[in-house]
Amino acid sequence: MINELKHLEGFRQEVRSWLQANLPADWHERMTGASEEEHVAFQKFWFRRMMDGGYGAPHWPAEWGGSGFSFAQQIVLYEEIARAGAPRLILYFIALYHVPATLLAWGTDEQRQRHLPAVLSGDEIWCQGFSEPNAGSDLASLRCRAERRGDRYIVNGQKTWSSNAHHARYCLLLTRTDPAATKARGISYMILDLQTPGVSLRPIKQITGASHFNEIFLDDVEIPVENLIGPEHGGWAVAQSTLSSERGLTILELAERMRHGFQMLLDAAQSPSPLGGRLIDDDEIRRRLVDIYARIQALRLLVNNMLTRVLEGAGAGVEPSIIKVYYSDLLRDFTELGVTLGGAKAQYLQPVLMGGGNETGYWMQDYLYSWAWTISGGSSEIQRNIIAERALDLPREPKLASAS
Ligand SMILES: Cc1cc2nc3c(=O)[nH]c(=O)nc-3n(C[C@H](O)[C@H](O)[C@H](O)COP(=O)(O)OP(=O)(O)OC[C@H]3O[C@@H](n4cnc5c(N)ncnc54)[C@H](O)[C@@H]3O)c2cc1C
Repeated sequence: MINELKHLEGFRQEVRSWLQANLPADWHERMTGASEEEHVAFQKFWFRRMMDGGYGAPHWPAEWGGSGFSFAQQIVLYEEIARAGAPRLILYFIALYHVPATLLAWGTDEQRQRHLPAVLSGDEIWCQGFSEPNAGSDLASLRCRAERRGDRYIVNGQKTWSSNAHHARYCLLLTRTDPAATKARGISYMILDLQTPGVSLRPIKQITGASHFNEIFLDDVEIPVENLIGPEHGGWAVAQSTLSSERGLTILELAERMRHGFQMLLDAAQSPSPLGGRLIDDDEIRRRLVDIYARIQALRLLVNNMLTRVLEGAGAGVEPSIIKVYYSDLLRDFTELGVTLGGAKAQYLQPVLMGGGNETGYWMQDYLYSWAWTISGGSSEIQRNIIAERALDLPREPKLASAS
């Protein structure tokens, strides 16, 4: 892997210098305990600065205003972003990844022209409206109903867990347009303007006290037919394009952030304990540190193997599922060790670093949030099912009689 990237040393230095010159040195200070408004303003500022530098949309084709970087360049870029501890563009996650993956594969030219430049200008924040109260892992059983009347759909139903919907203008929405068809067959994919009458949001309060996601209620909401993405009743295939964009280089960045973040655990273990001595002198603490360190190295190797296969032109295969389970378990144990080492102040909820990574050093926040990783983007149990069926060739999970 390192060999594959050697020829990009000049590019790496360019990115590194750019980040040194452009990343505000005081951003941690400014974003720790920041309000939602400050968070949004800072995300917009940082996204625009990244765009101006040519790094904001590395995977977008140049013809649509992106950097058009090769896959190898993107690897280098994300490694450097993690190394610099730059903010994560969390508010733009859906707009930057899911929207182009969906519109470039399935959208009309009019939809692409309408939305892709607006995303890159930083003006359009998007959210995802897939999950429902009774359709998460089994997404194909979704029930939010869209009835066609002339040139509009009338939509009624509920979505849930929609991250950042309260900051978003548009939503990637899955609805059921043919209730008579078997599960996945009767689904359509639409663009919902969240300012349409009949749309209401209710924030969901998390265990950390924050509200990053929302319920979305749709009450006779009119969606024009030109907002349909892909064929009517053919939205399931479109959704696969959206979901595949989640399994890209994000995990490399996260793995790299964790590798650099390990130093925080070491520093905490080596500093004097209020009870005397240092925690690093405790055998059990040393064992846990070594365990985490070894697993971080293993994670990096797993990610490298996947990226090497992609660089060589082979598909990623089942590796993203393996890496997701491995990362989620490791993040939980990593942050739990942070709570152990962080002393009294790690035992209560401190203000969070908005736009920080998953290991900000505010350990109780980090630990509680780590559990979300075992659910979002397909739960660990579902990933294990995928690994069992696709990689280990174990018997498929029995389907319920009513399922298709
Ligand atoms: C931080 C976060 C952000 C999210 N953001 C969004 C978003 O922006 N938009 C959106 O649409 N959704 C979002 N989600 C929702 C997410 O996609 C769902 O939570 C996820 O798909 C699981 O669905 P569920 O919550 O309905 O749980 P369920 O599917 O009801 O599962 C409950 C439990 O049963 C287990 N389980 C279910 N089926 C099986 C099976 N076949 N075999 C073994 N075990 C099984 C699960 O693993 C889980 O432990 C988000 C979730 C989180 C945590």
